[in-house]
Amino acid sequence: MATREKAVPIDQEILERLNRGILLRTGAYRTDDHIVLRSGRHTSEYVAKALVTTEPTFTEGLGDIIAAHFSRYQVDLVLTTGYGAGLLGHCVARAHLSRPRFIFATKGKTAGGRTEVILQPEYRKFFAEGGRVLIVEDIVTTGETVKQLIKLVEGMGGQVVGIGAIWRRSTRVKFKYPLFTVVTRDFPTYAPSECPLCRQGIPINPDFGGVGSEGESEE
Ligand SMILES: [Zn+2]
Repeated sequence: MATREKAVPIDQEILERLNRGILLRTGAYRTDDHIVLRSGRHTSEYVAKALVTTEPTFTEGLGDIIAAHFSRYQVDLVLTTGYGAGLLGHCVARAHLSRPRFIFATKGKTAGGRTEVILQPEYRKFFAEGGRVLIVEDIVTTGETVKQLIKLVEGMGGQVVGIGAIWRRSTRVKFKYPLFTVVTRDFPTYAPSECPLCRQGIPINPDFGGVGSEGESEE
C-alpha cells in the first residue's frame, strides 16, 4: 500500500516573504521609500493599489492563492467593490472549484461621510439561487468596506463564507468571519514631526500616497 507523504506546511513567515516578493514584482509594494499617506502620516513602506492588478498573470496568481485557501467551501458568489478588487475577484471566482458567480457592489459615501456599498439591483436574484458569499478585497486597512459588504450580504439573507484579500494592513482589524490575506503586515507610520526619513533629509516621493492617488485608502 502506497503511503502518501504528508505535506510539510510552509512556515507562515516564509510564505509571507514569498508573497511579498510577488507584490514587489508588480511594483505595487514600495519599500525604502518616503511617502506621505492621505492621513498626513509618513511611511517608508506602501502598497499602491492601482499597481497590484497591472499584470494579468500576477493578478491570476494572486486569485489562485485566495481561491485555493477557500477551496474546501462551497461558494456561490464572489462579491467585491472597487476596480482593483473587481479584477482580483474575477480571478478568484475563475479559479474556485465551485464556479461561483462574480458580482460587485458600488462604493459611495453617506451624507454623514460614512462608507456605504450598494448592490447592483440586477444581482439581487443571485442571492435566492444560493447565498454563500466569499468577499474579496485588495487591501484591508480599517476594514470599514468589508464590514459594509458583510452587512449587505446578511441583509440579502446570504451567508458569508469568508473574506479574502491581498494585504491586511493592520493586525488589529477583526471580522466575525474568517479572513485570509496573502500578506499581513503593519507598516510603521510617523507623524511628520517625528519622521526619521524627514530627519535624514530623504526627499518625499510625490508619486504615491497623495490625495487623488488610487493608492492605499484609509478604509
Ligand atoms: Zn517623513
